[in-house]
Amino acid sequence: MTVTTSAYDDVVARYAPVIGLETHVELGTVSKMFCGCSTVFGAEPNTQVCPVCLGLPGALPVANAAAIEATILIGLALNCSIASWCRFARKNYFYPDMPKNFQISQYDEPLCTDGWVEVHRDGAVHRIEIERVHLEEDTGKSLHVGGSTGRIHGATHSLVDFNRAGIPLVEIVTKPVTGTGARAPEVARAYVTELRDILRALDVSDVRMEQGSMRCDVNTSLSRVDSEVWGTRSETKNVNSLRSVERAVRSEMIRQAAVLDAGQRVIQETRHFHENSGESTSGRSKEEATDYRYFPEPDLVPLAPDTDRIERLRATLPELPSARRRRLQGSWSLSDGEMDAVANAGALDLIEATVQAGASAEDARKWWLGDLSRQANEAGAELAELAVTPAQVAQLAALVAAGRVNDTLARQALAGVLAGEGDPEQVIIARGLEVVSDTGALGTAVDEAIAAAPDIAAKVRAGKIAAAGALVGAVMKATRGKADAQVVRHLILTRLGQG
Ligand SMILES: [Zn+2]
Repeated sequence: MTVTTSAYDDVVARYAPVIGLETHVELGTVSKMFCGCSTVFGAEPNTQVCPVCLGLPGALPVANAAAIEATILIGLALNCSIASWCRFARKNYFYPDMPKNFQISQYDEPLCTDGWVEVHRDGAVHRIEIERVHLEEDTGKSLHVGGSTGRIHGATHSLVDFNRAGIPLVEIVTKPVTGTGARAPEVARAYVTELRDILRALDVSDVRMEQGSMRCDVNTSLSRVDSEVWGTRSETKNVNSLRSVERAVRSEMIRQAAVLDAGQRVIQETRHFHENSGESTSGRSKEEATDYRYFPEPDLVPLAPDTDRIERLRATLPELPSARRRRLQGSWSLSDGEMDAVANAGALDLIEATVQAGASAEDARKWWLGDLSRQANEAGAELAELAVTPAQVAQLAALVAAGRVNDTLARQALAGVLAGEGDPEQVIIARGLEVVSDTGALGTAVDEAIAAAPDIAAKVRAGKIAAAGALVGAVMKATRGKADAQVVRHLILTRLGQG
């Protein structure tokens, strides 16, 4: 992105963002929402279909009980009220990847309503209100062939795969989130991260954003900081990574500010986010609910989960991420701010696994938030995507603790691990990185350093111990960082009569 930080600061000085997030999550049920077809990802196109999910005349849907229970679990984990009675609704639209020409969804009677989730940034807590959690079916997938971009524009023909059509899809909608100011992009990302972690803990979805089993639409609007009136919002569709959630909000804030500054109106529309450029382009103008002519689905009975069933499900809730964070924060003795930094870096699981592999919490945190975070940032990757395992980080920390490598050498060993040269121990041996603490081997280098700097040596002899640092540095340089600095210092002082 070419926009500078100061341009962003200028935007948030004059405009207050309001964001809203709609997240679609494919449930990990064995069969589809209204038929018995398999939901396994990656099968040959159109091999997991039947008359129901193809919308053939006369085929009747039957609701998937496991999907309903998973949705109730999600609602409970998000502190929602669960409806004691609600219905599915037909959302009518023509789209080539929806063979029925309608989607079974929920409209004014969602299964779960009025929840909340807390997200933490830099020691501050933002409460995100959840408007609704509802259950629907996913659409099929279109593949546009013959163009250079994979988009319909310029394509010679399109193919449709209905394997995904009918997979249970949960939509989680926030209420408008205000008061986040310059932090809006980070808060949006932190919310989606928290949601992903909750869904993962519930084991209801594999939440793989890159495979599309979790997809995010981001609503953004700007109002003037001195105004109570909210601006017109745009909806950026299908943002497919956590990093992109943050980028999408940020770039949309900057774009809308430029529109408003030019005296123009922001158009209510959907926009498509482009992962590569981080920019979005205009899509279709946003439909109103009336365009979909919703009506209660006549082929399905209402949902009426009784209180006993809901309470039985509540009793099966696992430890949720917020509770787990509190537990780990206690056992690692971290402040709120330190813990937020760990969570925001996506390092929680990695640090926990590194501690389980034998490292101290302090060492584990130091490596993952230090060198490895830097490497991930430079590569534009998530920490978990780096080619190093928690066990390897623990091994590295053990090698430092045992004095076999110092911090500088350990960083070189880590570079070797990331380059695919093997475990830290193997890299250290192969690259000859081990600390040299053998006094015989270091003696020559020490003598040379003293001989090369007689004036400094004289100062040390005269009692200026601090001057010895320059000699230690010379030996470290000569041994390319591999000397044990403590041993070198001792040798120098002894040789100069200060031992
Ligand atoms: Zn089917």
